[in-house]
Amino acid sequence: MTDFRKEGAAAPFGRFFLPGPTEVHPDVLAAQTRPMMGHRGPGIQELMARLQEGLKRVFRTERPVFVATCSATGLMEAAVRNGARRRILSLVNGAFSARFADIAEACGLEVDRLEVPWGEVHDPGAVAERLRNARYEAVTVVHSETSTGALNDLPAISGVVAEHSDTLLLVDSVTGCGGAELETDAWGLDFVLTGSQKALALPPGLAFGVASEAMLERAETVPGRGYYLDLLTFAKNLEKFQTPTTPAISTLYALEVQLECIRSETMEARWARHLAMARRVHEWVEEMRSGGLDVSVLAPEGSRSPTVTALRLPEGMRGPDVVEAARVRGWVIGGGYGKLKETTVRIGHMGEHTLEELEPLLDVLAEALAEAGVRA
Ligand SMILES: *Cc1c(COP(=O)(O)O)cnc(C)c1O
Repeated sequence: MTDFRKEGAAAPFGRFFLPGPTEVHPDVLAAQTRPMMGHRGPGIQELMARLQEGLKRVFRTERPVFVATCSATGLMEAAVRNGARRRILSLVNGAFSARFADIAEACGLEVDRLEVPWGEVHDPGAVAERLRNARYEAVTVVHSETSTGALNDLPAISGVVAEHSDTLLLVDSVTGCGGAELETDAWGLDFVLTGSQKALALPPGLAFGVASEAMLERAETVPGRGYYLDLLTFAKNLEKFQTPTTPAISTLYALEVQLECIRSETMEARWARHLAMARRVHEWVEEMRSGGLDVSVLAPEGSRSPTVTALRLPEGMRGPDVVEAARVRGWVIGGGYGKLKETTVRIGHMGEHTLEELEPLLDVLAEALAEAGVRA
């Protein structure tokens, strides 16, 4: 048996609370050992047709769900390359929403950023004002900002964007979809994307996206939308239950098993389970505070993600010390992201984790905070 306390070793099942990649159930992992099949035959078409049913349930859409072989960032790039020719507005409130803006810029778009402090969320009124003052082809937003644990109010933001018929709403729901309430059709979202390795609790390698009719119409007007990430090619191939290029077939096998697990749980129960885990973490933070430790949840109450929590550490305590103190006890949590590396740590309570599994983690975390506090 491998020594899980050794640096770089995988933690035993039930102890891996990274906010992506997330823990994958052994049955889902095992599905990947099925033999290969050709990616143009009837076998893959039948598989893809079954997967569509499950994916539509996850995204809450009647539209086809594109299956791309790339990490989530690939579909962030697809979003801006297919959704705009010239100018977009990027709502920035953390590292991944900043990345969305950077990608758009790297693709040659003119990008205006509406930025709020990391940890906070966007005020729909402020978005409305920006949209009144300038014309944008699209707005980018991150649903659940994984770097801070903040959850944007998507229905409200979508309502504001919908007042401008030429403006599309492009949504990164990488740590939302599959864990946080998400209604692609009912909320009128033009493009929603996620990756396999976050709240869907699959191995990395696939990304999924849903495009509205308006999004596909826009794509037709964009000459430089590229080849690999051309959403019109995805749409055309999906009519035959195929993908434009060779998909990560083994990950599709894993997806089939995981979608069945999600179907039997139901989306409503899945959302409720994630909310319950987040609330337990918030409650535990209050317990730690009443014990005299100045730890807090970074995102404000009412705007917290059900899938990931960033904890602001007491003055002088270092994020990497807390992560290391958890690691030597055999548990994995996330370090702070980007400029929050020293001052925060993150718990990914998403995927297949349960309230029961969370309790021992919180006990270990209390010990880790005490140990890191001694060093501070
Ligand atoms: C992880 C993450 C990404 C990037 O995902 P990759 O699969 O590594 O490309 C983008 N956005 C958010 C919100 C994420 O959590």
